[in-house]
Amino acid sequence: MQRIVHLTPPQFSPEYVKEKVICIRAHREREFKIGCEIIDGKLICHNYGQGGAGLTFLFASVEASLCSFNECLAAHPEFKNKEIVVIGAGCYGLLTTIELAREGHKVRIVTSEVDRPSSFNAAGFFFPRSRKTSTPQEREIFHTLGLASYAMYKKIIASEHPFISKEAASIIPVYYGLNIDPGYDFYIQQCMLEAAERVTVDFGNGKHYEALEYKTLFINADVLFADLRRAITDLGITITQANIAAFSDLHESIIFNCTGIGAKQLTNDKKLIPVQGHLIMLKEQPKLEYMLNMQVTMRDEQGNERDELIYYSPRGSGTLGITFIRGKRSLVPNEHEFDRILQRCHDFFGV
Ligand SMILES: Cc1cc2nc3c(=O)[nH]c(=O)nc-3n(C[C@H](O)[C@H](O)[C@H](O)COP(=O)(O)OP(=O)(O)OC[C@H]3O[C@@H](n4cnc5c(N)ncnc54)[C@H](O)[C@@H]3O)c2cc1C
Repeated sequence: MQRIVHLTPPQFSPEYVKEKVICIRAHREREFKIGCEIIDGKLICHNYGQGGAGLTFLFASVEASLCSFNECLAAHPEFKNKEIVVIGAGCYGLLTTIELAREGHKVRIVTSEVDRPSSFNAAGFFFPRSRKTSTPQEREIFHTLGLASYAMYKKIIASEHPFISKEAASIIPVYYGLNIDPGYDFYIQQCMLEAAERVTVDFGNGKHYEALEYKTLFINADVLFADLRRAITDLGITITQANIAAFSDLHESIIFNCTGIGAKQLTNDKKLIPVQGHLIMLKEQPKLEYMLNMQVTMRDEQGNERDELIYYSPRGSGTLGITFIRGKRSLVPNEHEFDRILQRCHDFFGV
């Protein structure tokens, strides 16, 4: 008989809504951009385009970027011992800077946004699925980077990371709708994850759904960012707030480009697409240790059917979402999208 999982629904009536957040994922078609090139005498090291899975691929993407940099230094010794600047203070910019400083490089950060870059808002799913359009070779890169990042998160949980505390990640139950593929098959084949169990999720109020239960990673962006920022401070790294219009604006001859969607202008990368996300951060309530990602169908303003997502993560006091609006880069809050999220969550959770 199929197991029934009794879950408490989150509270999201107006008194429980803390903040409505709009932010942009930098989604690069087919594959991320990791690698170095020389432009006008400067060595530019790119690392962007991980889209809605930036936390998922963080550790291995940064390691791959540093490997590419070291290979370039070997091939172009004229860049050895030159000063380095990292553009961006999202999770990619911060981690890259820390690793460079720990390797003994002189490095600083320049960034347009210090306190709330896009990555600060991430819900924390481990979501390693490759792009539908990726070639088999590109898919292989997703697998390699995903597995290596997953292994690093396991080290974090085991308190084996030098500057990230174990509270930055945990293994918790995650419920996916039957038609959602999070990209875990490869991890199950590699014995990194247990196979899913089909269960009935029951909210105890007449609302129940078929789902696949996985035990997998919740990445706590609050803790991760606090630890990254602490390490930056401990290492005495300078952060300058400025918007960079061109690499030539910077005096350093080595530049790490960790600008997320900012790379679209800086590099004129046509494969980079903004994907707008709306999230609702909830107020203090009993902690719910599960994540949920299910698809529902709603009607839009024109009366057309539109597939939407129900998203819940225990980030903060709970985070509800979410939208994936391709091609939209505006950061002007769209109240209508927030209302739609609340409406579909109301229907789904029955509260
Ligand atoms: C709503 C939402 C939910 C998400 N949920 C998840 C999740 O559940 N799991 C997961 O794995 N990932 C998730 N992510 C994805 C993850 O957060 C992103 O992939 C991540 O934002 C990428 O980080 P980044 O450091 O590359 O970019 P960002 O965090 O966007 O940082 C870019 C930095 O570059 C700076 N910058 C940009 N252009 C310039 C310029 N011209 N000059 C100077 N500075 C510049 C910005 O100010 C910023 O500091 C989510 C993202 C969003 C938006």
